Amino acid sequence: MKRIAVMTSGGDAPGMNAAIRAVVRAGIAQGIEVYGIRQAYAGLLSGDMELLTSREVSGILQRGGTILQTARNEEFKTAQGQRKALRRLNEHNIEGVIVIGGDGSLRGATVLHDLGVPTVGVPASIDNDIYGTDTSIGVDTALNTILDALDRLRDTATSHNRCFLIEVMGRNCGYLALTGGILGGAEVIITPERPLSMEDVARDLESAYVKGKAHAIAVIAEGAPYKVTELQEFLEKQHVGFEIRLTILGHTQRGGGPTAFDRLLATRMGVEAVKRLLAGETGVMVARQGRVQTTVPLKEVTSQQREITGEYYDLAQMLQ
Ligand code: ADP
Repeated sequence: MKRIAVMTSGGDAPGMNAAIRAVVRAGIAQGIEVYGIRQAYAGLLSGDMELLTSREVSGILQRGGTILQTARNEEFKTAQGQRKALRRLNEHNIEGVIVIGGDGSLRGATVLHDLGVPTVGVPASIDNDIYGTDTSIGVDTALNTILDALDRLRDTATSHNRCFLIEVMGRNCGYLALTGGILGGAEVIITPERPLSMEDVARDLESAYVKGKAHAIAVIAEGAPYKVTELQEFLEKQHVGFEIRLTILGHTQRGGGPTAFDRLLATRMGVEAVKRLLAGETGVMVARQGRVQTTVPLKEVTSQQREITGEYYDLAQMLQ
């Protein structure tokens, strides 16, 4: 292999830049050229790609977002779009592709592999919903952002005897809500996997009020079965004791420079992806399992559901 390409796709995650840098520099160290594809599958179809030099990836390790940008693209899901993608790769003499992204992006990577293009995936998603790896690039940074917000909101909640409802991201996965809730000392945690009824939330908050707590924090995953605004309305009608305030953390959770953990994870995974691709592995995703760096077949990754360890639910219940 003489020339490969790298893209970042789907929802952006802090640490994507660190992974791009690792891929480019590991490629150069092994004597190959690395092209950067801009705007993921959209750029692949339009041929928006160019050679990345070592210098072009300098100074990006600590930056949030992705210098290659990311986009969502429906055309690549069609046979016609896939033919176009193959043509573009041939035009640029690209012999292998590294896809850095979430669940959907890794489905796209599986398609590339099935089309005969050597492809390796790198898991990057703040949601921690990717099967086969303990964690993904961006999770640690997002979790730290959530904790920072929870700590600040608790300060003001205590001063006013308030209850804050805090909605966090995670799509259909409750990992960020559950771990954020445990580590931020929340009184109530609502996840899509184990949701609480609104009546149960009211009961828990009322009992916190009766116990004499100066504040209450309820963390709600965006994938919960009811909207956080509905919950607020319901709780106000129930008069649980606390004044109710609502904060939706939103896209602040995607931004910011990656933590040390995410920089290390992204750097290791980027380098590993290049090594595996050059060694002839394809149709796999680089994964972290315990202290071991390994690969998992993309077909396994995209056909299975990641589950949150039951231990976390036990911790949450015991410590609330
Ligand atoms: P994420 O990677 O964060 O889960 P998406 O689910 O939006 O984000 O997927 C990102 C992109 O991956 C899509 O816009 C599309 O271009 C591509 N993709 C997703 N699923 C498929 C699929 N089944 N076949 C081909 N491409 C896909």
